[in-house]
Amino acid sequence: MSALLRNYINGVWRESESGATFANENPAHRRSELNRAQASNAADIEAAISAASGAFRVWGRTPVAERQAIVARFLDVLAGAGEELARVVSLENGKTIRESRGEVASALLEGRHHLQQMSVFGGQAAPRAEGEVTVWEQFHPLGVVGVISPWNYPMNVMCRKALPALLTGNTVVFKPASYTPWSGVFMTELLEKAGIPKGVFNCVTGQGSTIGNRLIQDARVRAISFTGSTEVGRKIQTLAAADFTRTQLELGGKSALIVLADADLDAAVEATVKAGFGCAGQWCTSTSRVLLVPEIAEAYLDRLLARCESMAVGEPLNEKTDMGPVAGASQWEGISAAIAKAGSEGARLRCGGVSGNAEGYYILPTLFDGVTREMSLFREEVFGPVLAVSTVRDLDEALQWSNDCIYGLSSAIFTRDLAAALRYVREIEAGMAHVNIHSGFKTPALPFGGWKESGSGPPENGRSGLEFFVERKAVYLSSV
Ligand code: NDP
Repeated sequence: MSALLRNYINGVWRESESGATFANENPAHRRSELNRAQASNAADIEAAISAASGAFRVWGRTPVAERQAIVARFLDVLAGAGEELARVVSLENGKTIRESRGEVASALLEGRHHLQQMSVFGGQAAPRAEGEVTVWEQFHPLGVVGVISPWNYPMNVMCRKALPALLTGNTVVFKPASYTPWSGVFMTELLEKAGIPKGVFNCVTGQGSTIGNRLIQDARVRAISFTGSTEVGRKIQTLAAADFTRTQLELGGKSALIVLADADLDAAVEATVKAGFGCAGQWCTSTSRVLLVPEIAEAYLDRLLARCESMAVGEPLNEKTDMGPVAGASQWEGISAAIAKAGSEGARLRCGGVSGNAEGYYILPTLFDGVTREMSLFREEVFGPVLAVSTVRDLDEALQWSNDCIYGLSSAIFTRDLAAALRYVREIEAGMAHVNIHSGFKTPALPFGGWKESGSGPPENGRSGLEFFVERKAVYLSSV
């Protein structure tokens, strides 16, 4: 019998009220069972919200230094368990072990950033005299917040949301994605080891459409930080509006990479491979559209095709693997359907497609060229290792095509022309603009969020990473 993952509610590991569970599959091996997780229902989420609500009375008043000490201990245990955690992520998500180690490193970097930011947070709020009146701005935690995370960066995204929430004095109900419950439970165990008081952090696994909805609709939950699809984000925003629940939504993308005639082609090709096929194309800031000017189109494509053919696709735990399987059955089906549709709409398949390796959910690095603006491959998010390559006249047309999209998460340009680069930075409609760097590059000091249908609410990281989780109060103090 496979191991059982339990919910963590009010400091106790417990099974769901109904006793129902679901299988956690390793996507490298169809129909395998790594372990089973709780298929929780409304009663479990209710218990978690009640626990978080009770714990808030103390945690919300706990001195910042004490909250920081617990988060610092958590980051230490996370660093110590990094290799084990990377293995867990690879086993249930399918990304390569090298990519999972990268995810752990990114979570640590961001976590340390938030810890340090917490020390300066509120510095601008120092009291000052306005005539006879002393005034200042005071920050208060919101209360209970819901964290709903995706499976593609199951531990990094959880940290990026939960650590700022905890540092600012909120209590958390965390719902991991159903493809990756183990990473969520593992992270919760690390928080327990770090000494998080009971009820302050609660983890409940189960279907988003049932328990996720329930979490949003409870008026005690004052904010929802969500990363996932635009479709679910829209539902969350609509439900949250009923109680004016605050939302931070990081959603889908269809990021474009532009290559101009004077670009360093080798660097552009490497950036395309990294951002197009990293994590099997399942990162929100993936490059999924490539826009080439005619002067370099053929040379660039020749080099990119050669790189695609050289990639080792296979077992995620093998150190030599460049790309693992996609995350599971529904992902594989959706990507396979998008590949078939692209072909039927007239795009030209240059390499890749569905892999012949039926042991796991494998898709090869896939490249279509001749993609026009009308095709679904140009417009719809595939969320897999599938690149849509188009040839455009010049920078004008490249910008028009890039911006002709409902999404606006990330983007990149490769050029040595400073004026062209600055024009792109000014005109691209996206939350992230990269010049001669791949579209997934980020630092926690800058905001991580999208424009248009790629996001809503204050972005994660940067200044708003902490600010999203607080209420503000303007205080006026007079001695008479
Ligand atoms: P989903 O939107 O399907 O799921 C995300 C999370 O929401 C999961 O925990 C899911 O639970 C839960 N959920 C599903 N339905 C509901 C609901 N009705 N109410 C509340 N919660 C719900 O996205 P994916 O997990 O498939 O993630 C891929 C998407 O995430 C892509 O579109 C990608 O672009 C986007 N993404 C965006 C990022 C960003 O920062 N902008 C970063 C990473 C990904 P369950 O798993 O149980 O269904």
